[in-house]
Amino acid sequence: MLAAMRSEPPFDPAAGGRLVVDRSALVANWRRLAARAAPGTAAAVVKADAYGTGIAAAVPALAAAGCDTFFAAVPAEGIAVRAAAPAATIYVLGGFAAGCGALYRAHRLRPVLGCRTEIADWLAEVGEAGEPPALHVDTGMSRLGLPVEEAAALAGDRAVMDRLAPALVMSHLACADRPEHPMNAAQTDAFAAVRRSFPGVPGSLANSAGLMLLPETVHDLARPGIALYGGAFSGRAPTLATVATLEARIVQLRTVAAGVPVGYGATFVTRRPSRIAVLGVGYADGYPRRAGAMGVEAAVDGRRVPIAGTVSMDLVAVDVTDLPDGAARRGGRVELFGPTVAVDEVAARCGTIGYELLTQVGARIQRVYV
Ligand SMILES: *Cc1c(COP(=O)(O)O)cnc(C)c1O
Repeated sequence: MLAAMRSEPPFDPAAGGRLVVDRSALVANWRRLAARAAPGTAAAVVKADAYGTGIAAAVPALAAAGCDTFFAAVPAEGIAVRAAAPAATIYVLGGFAAGCGALYRAHRLRPVLGCRTEIADWLAEVGEAGEPPALHVDTGMSRLGLPVEEAAALAGDRAVMDRLAPALVMSHLACADRPEHPMNAAQTDAFAAVRRSFPGVPGSLANSAGLMLLPETVHDLARPGIALYGGAFSGRAPTLATVATLEARIVQLRTVAAGVPVGYGATFVTRRPSRIAVLGVGYADGYPRRAGAMGVEAAVDGRRVPIAGTVSMDLVAVDVTDLPDGAARRGGRVELFGPTVAVDEVAARCGTIGYELLTQVGARIQRVYV
């Protein structure tokens, strides 16, 4: 209903679908997360083009609200963040690849270093001439980061530590979306021990779920991603404001008799005389191909309608028979996820998570900012 009350530009007839990004909701979510991080602060994780919402628009809105630290996944994203936030602190989570030193210097990017080879490469190429790095310690996820024992050895290596002068020591939680999982206590304790090896260096452990569900993981700098964009980080956690709404344009409306197949494979057959709306978004835009078979719904003006049949590459059909006359019209828009049908609901039905659906919204989908 709120979506209908927002002032939104009319649907561009040249596009089959659009992602409407509510920047005030994004900023409100960041403020709420930053308040939870106090007396520490909250950064913004903006990898994967700000979870599909667009770095170029999301980052300036967050920076204007007071967010001064951003995390990207790769240097190319870090450069996009730098263009959007000239004064920000920008970390690149994916480590440091030899040969990238000039990029890090030119765009004032901070690497998140996770092994001794990366540390040596960083010191050889950039070192004191660049921004101070973060150190990533693996407290149990076995993804990125120095093993705990190697981190302790590094901490005792004064020659390297003096040159490295890290600005942050961080680790990442594997199971924070399930607060009762024993991994959380193990990682929390391991990280506390790691921090004692690096006195005076600020610490960062919590992601969205850690920040919202496990206060002992917050430390100096929380790193929320999905919660900023209104996605669920746990079935039980309070939901933040919806930021991204995927809308499709109604390309064709048709009336079909009972017993008529709709779409590839004839997997959906009408059981009654039906009204079918064909929408200009398909699996090439990141919408799950099996949505119809999984019982996913869409919405027209806040009213739910079922997906009808297999999603095509560029099109998807919805059954609008039960809508009042005139509610679905050619050129009108249908919500595929947003305030009525949460992205996490669509994701759960399709066996995935909201993160995946948000970050897969394709380049063909227009981004519209309100
Ligand atoms: C993606 C990521 C985050 C953000 O996680 P959310 O679950 O989206 O809050 C934080 N830290 C690291 C290292 C990440 O890779």
